[in-house]
Amino acid sequence: MNIADLQENWDLIVIGGGITGAGILLEASRMGLKVLLVEQNDFASGTSSRSSKLVHGGLRYLKEGRLYLTYLSVRERERLIKEAQGLVEPLNFMTPVYSNRRPGRLSLEAGLRIYDLMSHRRDHKFYGQNEFSMRVPCVKQENLQGGFRFRDAQVDDARLVLRVINEALLSGGFALNYADAVEISRNARGDVAGVVIKESETGETKQILTRAVINATGSWAEKIHPSPDKSLHLRPLRGSHLVFPEWAFPFPEAVTFFHPFDRRPIFIIPWEGAVIYGTTDVDHEKDLSLEPVISKAEISYLMDGINAFFPSLEISLRDALSSYAGVRPVLSRKQLAPSKESREHVVWIDKGLVTITGGKLTTFRKLAADALKAAMPFLPSVKPAGHEPVFRQSPGVFTDDRLSPLLLRRLTGRYGEGAKEILKNPGTDDLSYIPGTNTVWAELRYAAKNETVRHLEDLLLRRVRIGLITPEGGKEHIGRIKTLCSPVLPWDEAKWDAEINKYLEKWRRAHSVTCYPS
Ligand SMILES: Cc1cc2nc3c(=O)[nH]c(=O)nc-3n(C[C@H](O)[C@H](O)[C@H](O)COP(=O)(O)OP(=O)(O)OC[C@H]3O[C@@H](n4cnc5c(N)ncnc54)[C@H](O)[C@@H]3O)c2cc1C
Repeated sequence: MNIADLQENWDLIVIGGGITGAGILLEASRMGLKVLLVEQNDFASGTSSRSSKLVHGGLRYLKEGRLYLTYLSVRERERLIKEAQGLVEPLNFMTPVYSNRRPGRLSLEAGLRIYDLMSHRRDHKFYGQNEFSMRVPCVKQENLQGGFRFRDAQVDDARLVLRVINEALLSGGFALNYADAVEISRNARGDVAGVVIKESETGETKQILTRAVINATGSWAEKIHPSPDKSLHLRPLRGSHLVFPEWAFPFPEAVTFFHPFDRRPIFIIPWEGAVIYGTTDVDHEKDLSLEPVISKAEISYLMDGINAFFPSLEISLRDALSSYAGVRPVLSRKQLAPSKESREHVVWIDKGLVTITGGKLTTFRKLAADALKAAMPFLPSVKPAGHEPVFRQSPGVFTDDRLSPLLLRRLTGRYGEGAKEILKNPGTDDLSYIPGTNTVWAELRYAAKNETVRHLEDLLLRRVRIGLITPEGGKEHIGRIKTLCSPVLPWDEAKWDAEINKYLEKWRRAHSVTCYPS
C-alpha cells in the first residue's frame, strides 16, 4: 500500500511506528476502530530498535523509589514471557558483590526480594565467591564476596514492533512506513480534522480525514505538540551499546555490574548469537533527524567499565562487531543527572490530538491503554479493550523434524503464522544458521516478501539483525542475500547496487567502531 491508495476517512491516525505506536494500533484495531499508523522512516527505526532489549522491571528504578513503575514493568514482563514465547524469553543475570563497592549484599538482597514479591516468585540466589567465579569466569577477584543470580527477560525489540504491527493488521488495522505526518489540520473550532501525509521519498502528499490523532513519536513528540507544561520538556538522552562476538565473553548468562565511575548498572547480554554491552546515558544534542551515533567518550566509558571488572579478558575495541545508539524519550522537569530522570510516561490532550511519550518498551501495553483512554471522547463508541493476550493469532503447536524445538519456538515467536511460510519449500541450506547468529537464511526471504521492506537496511538492521551481529554489517553475506531475496523484491540490478552502497555507507557511519582508536 502507498499513500495514493489510502482511504480518506479514518477514526484514528497514529503517528509513529515504534513500540508505542504499534501497541496503540494493535489495541485500537482490536476495539474495532478504523485506524492507520504512519511512520516517517521504517517501522522501529527510532528508539525501538536501539534499546538494551530487556523486558524488565528495572532494579535501578526500585533503588530510586519508583515502586509503581517497577511493579508495572515486572507484571508486564511476566505476561509477555507467557504470551510472547519465542520472542520474549526469560534471561538470568549474574551480578557480582564486592566488599569495597556499593551496593553491597544486603541492599541488593533487599531489592531482589521486592522484585520477587512483585512477580510472586522466588527468583534470586546468592553464590559464594567460588561458585560465582565458576559461573562468571574472569570476573575481577579482588574483594569479591560472590554475587547474585536473578531473572528478567529479553526480546528482539524491532521484531516485537513488527510482530505487534502484523498482529494489528490481522485485526483490521493499517500501517504505512516511509510516510511522514507533516501537518495536523483542524476545523474552525480547533478540533483535529485530518492529517497531511507525505510519502518520505517521492514527496507526494495526501490529506486524510480523522476524528482523532495519537502522537506516539517518542523523542520527536514535541515537534508535533509542544508540552503544555512549561516546566516539563522532553530531554533527549542518548544510550549507546557495543556489540561483541559471543567468544569475547566466555560466560553463558547475562552479567550486570555497577560502573565504577558513576555506579550506573551496565549490562553484558548474550543476544541473537552475539553479545550486546551497554549502555550509556548522556544528553543528545544533535538534530533528531540525524542518525544517533556512539561518541568517543561513550566508548571510553564502556571500555573502562569492562576493563575494571574483567581485566583478564583483555577485551579491545578491535574485537567489537558494531555499535548502535538510541535516544530515550525522557521527560525532565529539574534537569537531574541523566540516569536520575524519570522513565514514566505522560499523556497530553488537545482537542482530538493525544500525545503520549516517555515510558519503556516493557510497558508498551500500559502506554497504549492510557493513550486510547484519553482519545476515547473523540472516537466513535466502541467496546473498551479487554485483557487479550498480546498475540492472539497463535500458529498453534506444530513440529518440524528439520528443526530443533528451540529454533521452532524462535521462529513462531518472531513471525507468528509466518513461521509456517518460512518452513515451506526452503532452498538447500536455507534453514541453516547465518554464521555467528541465531538467524536462519530463510527468514530473510520471508521478511523481504512479506514485511514491507523498502531498503536493504530495513531488512538487515530491523527485520533480522545481522547488520549488528556479523562482521562489517554482514558485508560478506550480501551476495547470498541478493540471490535469496531477488525473486521477492521488485529491485533491478541498478536498485540493488544503489541499496548495497547506501547500506554499507550508512553502516560505516552509524554502526562501525573501526574509526575509533582501540
Ligand atoms: C539505549 C536505550 C536502552 C533502552 N533499553 C530499554 C530496555 O532494555 N527495556 C525497555 O523496556 N526500554 C528500554 N529503553 C526505552 C525504550 O527503548 C523506549 O522507551 C521505546 O523504544 C520508545 O518507543 P516509542 O515508540 O515511544 O519511540 P520510537 O521508537 O522512537 O518511535 C517513534 C517513531 O516516531 C516516528 N516519527 C517521528 N515523527 C514522525 C512524523 N512526523 N511522522 C511519522 N512518524 C514520525 C519516528 O521515526 C520513530 O520511529 C531504552 C532506550 C534506550 C535509548
